[in-house]
Amino acid sequence: MTEVATGRVRTGDGRWHEADQVFICAGQDFETLYPLVFAESGITRCKLQMMRTAAQPARLGASLCAGLTLTHYKAFEKLPGLPALRKRFEAEMPEYLRWGIHVLVSQNQIGEVTLGDTHEYGLHHDPFERAELNDLVIKYLETFCRLPKPQITETWHGIYPKMTNGKNWFHHEPEPGVTILNGLGGAGMTLSFGLAENVVKSF
Ligand SMILES: Cc1cc2nc3c(=O)[nH]c(=O)nc-3n(C[C@H](O)[C@H](O)[C@H](O)COP(=O)(O)OP(=O)(O)OC[C@H]3O[C@@H](n4cnc5c(N)ncnc54)[C@H](O)[C@@H]3O)c2cc1C
Repeated sequence: MTEVATGRVRTGDGRWHEADQVFICAGQDFETLYPLVFAESGITRCKLQMMRTAAQPARLGASLCAGLTLTHYKAFEKLPGLPALRKRFEAEMPEYLRWGIHVLVSQNQIGEVTLGDTHEYGLHHDPFERAELNDLVIKYLETFCRLPKPQITETWHGIYPKMTNGKNWFHHEPEPGVTILNGLGGAGMTLSFGLAENVVKSF
């Protein structure tokens, strides 16, 4: 959609359509619909570099991660050993903390392995990827996983909107009958379906 007003939305072909309720879940692009709301939302953008290998000759069997992941997700913040682990990473691997690098390894149905990721924060990002960050990901991967076919065949980056004010998401009604739901950050694939159900139920 290119424009929204109470009770109606306009689509790319220029036509207006009626709607009792409008939900805007447009990820980082909601700025184009409500630029001022976006500017005041407390959202920034996170750029993540990702890689994929050639198909492996065998199944990995499980998704893998290692110690750096414990310092990345809030869900682990109450682990008693975490402060000591973080201190060690600060001393031995500061560049990993600086670029928000932790490594998740998962295999798809045709045997390729997806690897990521890095985290850079800011409203505007360079379209180029930093080769040295991908090298850091590979170097850390090699400390806990050796793939039979480690060749990287694809690299790309994704961007998600992320709250900077400590909230877990952005929920706002800019005008009657219009709801913006956004900013779920790096947990959006996990949380979105439950959140969507709760929000829709409340109408
Ligand atoms: C590289 C990467 C790794 C991630 N890893 C994880 C993970 O391991 N676990 C996890 O839980 N989450 C992860 N996430 C985060 C997760 O993908 C997002 O939080 C989630 O996709 C947000 O869902 P959404 O529906 O709000 O927005 P999106 O998935 O961004 O969907 C928004 C959709 O709206 C469309 N759109 C935009 N503007 C308009 C418009 N004007 N009109 C119509 N449509 C529009 C877009 O094309 C898009 O399809 C990751 C994200 C990235 C980029």
